[in-house]
Amino acid sequence: MTDPKKPVLKDRAPEDLDPSDWEAFRAQAHDALDAMIDHIRDVRERPVWRPASDEAKAFFHRPLPLEGRDFGTALTEFDRYIKPFAIGNTHPLFMGWVQGAGTPVGMIAEMLAAGLDSNCGGRNHIALDVERQIALWMAQAFGFPLDASGIFVTGASMANFLSLLVARERAAGARNVRLNGLNALDSMLVAYASREVHNCVRQAMELSGLGARHLRLIPSDERRAMRVGDLAHAIAADRAAGFTPFMIVGTAGTVDTGAVDDLDALADVAREEDIWFHVDGAFGALAALSPALKPLVKGLERADSIAFDFHKWLHVPYDAGFFLIRDPEMHRRAFKADAAYLSRAPRGLAAGETWPCDLGPDLSRGFRALKTWFTIETFGTELLGACIEQTCRMARRLEKALEASTSFVLRAPVTLNIVCFGVADDPDGDLAREVVMELHESGEAAPSLTILDGTPAIRAAIINHRTHEADIDTFVALLEATLRRARREPHELERIAEPPKGPGRTRLSQD
Ligand SMILES: *Cc1c(COP(=O)(O)O)cnc(C)c1O
Repeated sequence: MTDPKKPVLKDRAPEDLDPSDWEAFRAQAHDALDAMIDHIRDVRERPVWRPASDEAKAFFHRPLPLEGRDFGTALTEFDRYIKPFAIGNTHPLFMGWVQGAGTPVGMIAEMLAAGLDSNCGGRNHIALDVERQIALWMAQAFGFPLDASGIFVTGASMANFLSLLVARERAAGARNVRLNGLNALDSMLVAYASREVHNCVRQAMELSGLGARHLRLIPSDERRAMRVGDLAHAIAADRAAGFTPFMIVGTAGTVDTGAVDDLDALADVAREEDIWFHVDGAFGALAALSPALKPLVKGLERADSIAFDFHKWLHVPYDAGFFLIRDPEMHRRAFKADAAYLSRAPRGLAAGETWPCDLGPDLSRGFRALKTWFTIETFGTELLGACIEQTCRMARRLEKALEASTSFVLRAPVTLNIVCFGVADDPDGDLAREVVMELHESGEAAPSLTILDGTPAIRAAIINHRTHEADIDTFVALLEATLRRARREPHELERIAEPPKGPGRTRLSQD
């Protein structure tokens, strides 16, 4: 007998979110995929960037929908309001900041991972083996022991933060800072990095409770690498003052200029002083994949831990940061936690010893390893290393062209793939600023701006595997033309109504 008080749902399909017509969905899905493949293929036909239209912005101010609409309608809205206004890092003339450019292979891998929808926090499934495969491969690439521990995180910012937590755990030892907090420490922990260090290391000091003032910023030399002599002095002074030096952060490829610290010398100091040696190699560590560039990052193999990104120089779609650490036991010690719902079984789906949730603060996490595996498996490290080398060659080409120009002056030595320069006779950097904004708004190219020694500098970070000689030559011509206009009509540069076809050729010919 049915309970008369219980409502009976009649004439209603069982509720789920799968398509009611799989064949119709399949057709829409194939169209969407085709359109996205074309989008990547035709990247040069579009402006690098354009600001989102008012219509597009307004579209994302709608109220929460009670009823859904057709998937096809949402796809049309994606095409109209999202796709044209992406940031542009897939474009060969995007040189702003340090951003990877993606690959079609990575795109498909991301889709396949979404299809599996694996939660990679733990348990007994193959995705964790794929992640361990990546850790093993990177241990081989960097010259780490093969049992090194590693974990995917969002990006190098998070990886640098994790390294700091591990180093703190090691320094605190029996004081058990995880249980007792920082008050249990005998003396304040201090860390060292060059003044060129990425801001995320400062932030890691803030987040860890150690305090940003306990990050000592060591001066850099004319190549913008850390002055190792100054580091040794700072450590001695801190010890004399009762501090506990616990971590040296070397940078392989600084974010502003691509400078590389003398990692071997830093490793020597760290060993001498018994201090954790971490390398922020967000993009630069992967120079190890190129036999020609590898000598630049010598000493990387002696680090206790490395933070780096697959989403920069390896073009794995965002996001794919990685934290690699020499001592697997130390890694577990810093993060492993016991919770009933995470307990391990001898057999079955809850089997396994170390889960990724024992190696960092994330529990639920996506399958970042898959797109990374597809990328390395499909291209191989020779080709990936050659693409990295190519970007450094393009940087040299740009450097040479700027040296030959009377309009621009180099502002920092070129070590890897980043060129920083200014405008001649522009002491406050006003013209540099103007040229960068104008290039962005024209959609022709996207360098970025940074501040070097207090003055704005134009920064071209050449990461993109699609950036070739002709693009560099176009970029130089665009710089010269834009500067000429900026000098002629300061702050009243013409705006173009229609984005140019191809990287700015129409405008150039009009100049
Ligand atoms: C990009 C970068 C970071 C930050 O990495 P995210 O992946 O953006 O978190 C840190 N350090 C250096 C040297 C970088 O280039």
